[in-house]
Amino acid sequence: MNPIRYVDQMDLAGKRVLLRVDLNVPLRDGVVADDSRINAILPTVQYILDRGGMPILCSHLDRPGGKRVPEYSLRPVSVRLSELTGKKVDFVDECVGPKADQAAASLTSGSMLVLENLRFDPGEEANDDTFARSLASLADVYVDDAFANAHRAHASNVGVTKYFEAKAGGLLMKKELQALEGVLESPDRPLVVAIGGAKVSSKIATIEHLSEIADRLLLGGAMAFPFLRAQGIDVGDHRADGEAVQRAKRMLDQRPDALVLPQDFAVDDGGRREVDVDELPKDQNVLDIGPRTIDRFASELKAAGTIVWNGPMGKFEQEGFEVGTRMVAEAIARSPAFSLVGGGDTNAALDRFAARGGISYVSTGGGAFLEMLSGRELPAIKVLARQTINA
Ligand code: ADP
Ligand code: MG
Repeated sequence: MNPIRYVDQMDLAGKRVLLRVDLNVPLRDGVVADDSRINAILPTVQYILDRGGMPILCSHLDRPGGKRVPEYSLRPVSVRLSELTGKKVDFVDECVGPKADQAAASLTSGSMLVLENLRFDPGEEANDDTFARSLASLADVYVDDAFANAHRAHASNVGVTKYFEAKAGGLLMKKELQALEGVLESPDRPLVVAIGGAKVSSKIATIEHLSEIADRLLLGGAMAFPFLRAQGIDVGDHRADGEAVQRAKRMLDQRPDALVLPQDFAVDDGGRREVDVDELPKDQNVLDIGPRTIDRFASELKAAGTIVWNGPMGKFEQEGFEVGTRMVAEAIARSPAFSLVGGGDTNAALDRFAARGGISYVSTGGGAFLEMLSGRELPAIKVLARQTINA
């Protein structure tokens, strides 16, 4: 496979640049409530402007379901983008059609355009070819900086690419892929991976791939349940279902020394009660890892050469059950090893425990991050690679 090209290898002067970004920000009363996703793409926007290009930004926001939903308009985002860059930002309330054509054509050097929410049009999520062609017709070159969306094959990140000779990843895409590739292909060993969270079925493939490359795989949160079940320990949780248990069993057979399971937990009996793994009550929710497990995980993390973390170790939002997640977050933040952290709730935990500053790279991806870690090629990245290097 060709390596993908990035925007810093592109001729941008005088070019209209269709820039797919992730501006799926939370809005409150029509105002951007958290602008971290906007900040994440500013280096790419600035780079294009500095090189004389004219960015035409497109993004989805939330799930309007293929029709116009006024509260999911990207207009407030365009206002915030203008405040953050100090530049003129035009907005047009469609993404394809005569108004969008007109707005793109009248762009001048030094300014940019934000298109309306891509998902107001059913063609976006359907990867419709007519929609993709109209979108592509607005610009001369294409840049994809929406890593968090790269696991989805939509019109704006897959369909459009066949209409561009020059296409590249943005600077955020570059940072994300370089961090992930470094960890997956040439990690400083030992590579210690911590996986937790609640979505067992959506993470089991990721765990399978990581169990093949990690020196240690620490399993916390509800992710530990199928593995315990595979060892004959019933946690009384439906997430430890048949298929996940079978797959857990296979991993335990193949890498018995690499997998590290909790030895104790905290259960909810009206408050935090700590119990050994072989004394788990069936009628109480298992909501956190216990103190001996925390010590073991912390010492594994301390010895790591590279760390990957996704998924809280327990239900950290509930008082009394934040301990495991906080201790793991702090152990990772303290470690001098390269640390890569991703996931929506994991991100929230980093902020809650003020651990973000100690992390080498925090991914903006949730699903895309997990899919990369499961060793799969993401559809939006595959299409960027499909080109001659000098195009
Ligand atoms: P991420 O978004 O970082 O990928 P997930 O969505 O998989 O993480 O899981 C995060 C959620 O998992 C958190 O809201 C947390 O409360 C929950 N969780 C973790 N461990 C447990 C547990 N033992 N029981 C119930 N919920 C848990
Ligand atoms: Mg989540």
